[in-house]
Amino acid sequence: MSGRVTHSGAANCVFCRKPLPVVNGRLQPWRASNGLFFCNEFCADDAEELNFRNRVGRVGSAIKLST
Ligand SMILES: [Zn+2]
Repeated sequence: MSGRVTHSGAANCVFCRKPLPVVNGRLQPWRASNGLFFCNEFCADDAEELNFRNRVGRVGSAIKLST
């Protein structure tokens, strides 16, 4: 396999839109407590933080994408 992966039914991280990690041919997403899937705990953390900020009413314009 070289880059072109087409998983039928594979989901993407709801935060950074990257494909969810696959380990041993199985989807191994980070599942947040709200049932959403993320590529890792950091995305889940950031999404939660954004959610919280939105709720509070102070939307930060700085979304940092760590690679
Ligand atoms: Zn992500």
